[in-house]
Amino acid sequence: MKPAIVRAARAAILAAVTVTTALTATAEAATPGQVIAGTGWKLINPAMTTSLSPGTYTIEFDSTAARTRLTPYLKLAAANTQKLTPGVKFVVSTTIQKRVTTGCQKSRTLVASLEYRPIAKKGYSWGGNCYRLTDHSLFSGAMRFTTEWWYPHWFSTTASTNTYRIRNGVTHEFGHAIGLGHPNKDLNHDGVVRDYECPLNKDKTRPLMCSPNGGVVTSTGAGNYTPLDVPGLKALVTNYQYR
Ligand SMILES: [Zn+2]
Repeated sequence: MKPAIVRAARAAILAAVTVTTALTATAEAATPGQVIAGTGWKLINPAMTTSLSPGTYTIEFDSTAARTRLTPYLKLAAANTQKLTPGVKFVVSTTIQKRVTTGCQKSRTLVASLEYRPIAKKGYSWGGNCYRLTDHSLFSGAMRFTTEWWYPHWFSTTASTNTYRIRNGVTHEFGHAIGLGHPNKDLNHDGVVRDYECPLNKDKTRPLMCSPNGGVVTSTGAGNYTPLDVPGLKALVTNYQYR
């Protein structure tokens, strides 16, 4: 079936520019039974991608440079995602597949590219997806990573912190590529949804999908979803039965 493109959430990294999804989750589900948002998570757009279809989605690379740089990070992101999506697998291949620039990637693939400022904003990477028009399940996705993240000390002069933050950034874009949006919210009711303004986990960390990237900056936490992100992944799986 012809898929449609989701105007995806952007990921803000490092930059202090406000980037949030323009979407406000409402109480209405796309289809009765589907869950589209909760505390600290939401789908990019409940009118678009609402579920993952059972089976395998394959990660491919736009270039050999992207494959070399991104493979370890995407393997971590894929493994951490797959743990939370029973019945849906994410396999990182070695395939070079040019990213489709106007339209959707081929069925069941997530194509990763490495580009300098893919959305022309310093420090920003991007993730988005397409859905099947028939049932609104994930059709394919793309992740466009800015080369800046791999500049020395881009995120931090502490090597380990820098690595952890790249891991969080990569899994954040992966989350967009499969349908998760930014859970930023006007918590202080000042009328503006701000960067970093997201419900917090019990340990005071921000959800991984918060914009700019949240997540836990530790060796075991980096590249992982946080407790607040988890119900979003579960919803993408369970929503399939109500598609
Ligand atoms: Zn984002």
